[in-house]
Amino acid sequence: MKSGSFDHHRVEPGAKVHLDRLTTDDKGGWGGKDDPAVARQLAEDSARLSELQERLFAEGRRSLLVVFQARDTAGKDGVLGHVVGPLDSRGVDVKSFGVPSREELAHDFLWRVHARAPERGHMTFFNRSHYEDVLAVRVDSLVPEETWSKRYRHINEFERMLADSGTTVIKFFLHISRKEQKRRLADRLADPRKRWKWNPGDLAARARWAEYDAAYQDAIERCSTSWAPWYVIPADHKWYRDLAVSRILVEALEAMDPRFPEATFDPAAITIPD
Ligand code: ADP
Repeated sequence: MKSGSFDHHRVEPGAKVHLDRLTTDDKGGWGGKDDPAVARQLAEDSARLSELQERLFAEGRRSLLVVFQARDTAGKDGVLGHVVGPLDSRGVDVKSFGVPSREELAHDFLWRVHARAPERGHMTFFNRSHYEDVLAVRVDSLVPEETWSKRYRHINEFERMLADSGTTVIKFFLHISRKEQKRRLADRLADPRKRWKWNPGDLAARARWAEYDAAYQDAIERCSTSWAPWYVIPADHKWYRDLAVSRILVEALEAMDPRFPEATFDPAAITIPD
């Protein structure tokens, strides 16, 4: 690989997070979207990811949970399309979390989340997640501080329980600049093929940029743990975002080292009739 690993985007447990000091437009020494080395690395990682995912599925003992959180337009859907799209749908799930239903609100905030956690052998991708309960919920004051402030501990303990049960948990915050978000929102208005994505609520969230910064910082700082780390991925460049996420997933799966199961029968003893 041309440039080192993407490990420096991981937030170490206990580290302070200042989003405005973390780069959004890192190119990591790569030449940009037209650099042939970028296309090669993306293709290599995509193939490797498919192979590791098949092993995880065949092994059927452990699972991987990948959380995506981001401001609007930062590319949750883009990364899901590029990185997750090519994977074998038998062992891969994407779960999206919107405004909770009446039934979901009648339970604790982790109820709907736990129900969508991966089954053994699966890779599950969360498009938004339980973190909304300390992000949107906090910024919009949907519950009192006394309630949301306890959730960081609840989240850490929930994620530790998942980890203890054989689920590797990785969390990505796709970090874009205010300027890049403006460009992408303007693009949505201008391009008739993108206009359907326009949501007036996006402007309301943009107006509360600083409040969201504070909420994201706390969530990342307080919930980046040894068992469920947060990565802050520079996302102004879509190709860099995809490269970083793919590489980190490949490395996480390589560390898990899933194995095809041993046959429980003697293949040599089986004759297949003509
Ligand atoms: P996206 O923006 O991810 O493409 P939507 O347009 O459906 O998807 O937006 C989902 C909305 O649901 C977001 O505004 C998000 O903040 C909100 N949401 C998700 N989870 C919660 C929650 N637990 N409480 C309140 N709002 C939530």
